[in-house]
Amino acid sequence: MNTTQLKQWLTELAAVIADNRDELSKLDQALGDGDHGLNMHRGFQAVLSELPNIKEEDEPAALLQKVATILISKVGGASGPLYGTAFLRMSAACKGKQTLDDETMVVALKQAAEGIAQRGKAAPGEGTLLDVWSTVANEAKETGMDWNQLEASARDGMEATKDMVVKRGRGAILGEQSVGHIDPGAVSSYYLFKTLCNTMKAGE
Ligand code: ADP
Ligand code: MG
Repeated sequence: MNTTQLKQWLTELAAVIADNRDELSKLDQALGDGDHGLNMHRGFQAVLSELPNIKEEDEPAALLQKVATILISKVGGASGPLYGTAFLRMSAACKGKQTLDDETMVVALKQAAEGIAQRGKAAPGEGTLLDVWSTVANEAKETGMDWNQLEASARDGMEATKDMVVKRGRGAILGEQSVGHIDPGAVSSYYLFKTLCNTMKAGE
């Protein structure tokens, strides 16, 4: 993966979030305050408008760091700092590399998931976006960067949140009543991986 592919991915992700912002906010009405779609849309539109300033020869790590900064300042809520941390950790794992090989991406995903867990004081199984990131990071570690497999694992991680009692974030006050609802952050994270997998498969 190189900077051009990263830009393609982020462009597609911004479009998918724009198309699904009402759905994301609706999911957040059940478990939170109904703003997740709006938060993510604001953040990724800001990312989109920054992309023309990124040159092909800029390192992937520089773009990932820029995205982190934008998401932290524009998304807000609980999810902004969590997504920001994920991109910051991926940036750190990619430093000094012009092209990201599979090994680097496996490490980047693992560190992103660990960063989210730390920042959110969260663990897998607590019904948050971490359930998607940790499922994908584990799958990548076990089977490598198989894009079809990774998309399937992102979907599994997202769907699994439906049966979980939410333990972190606003949904946690609902206790057992949170069961039966898919977590909005898990859905936006699924979109992130789905578009990443699409971009990478298109380039193969
Ligand atoms: P807010 O909850 O502040 O309104 P958003 O609605 O944008 O922020 O994001 C909510 C999402 O953030 C949840 O669906 C969940 O996936 C994620 N989230 C919230 N708190 C945590 C946490 N402590 N750890 C992991 N993920 C969390
Ligand atoms: Mg919310």
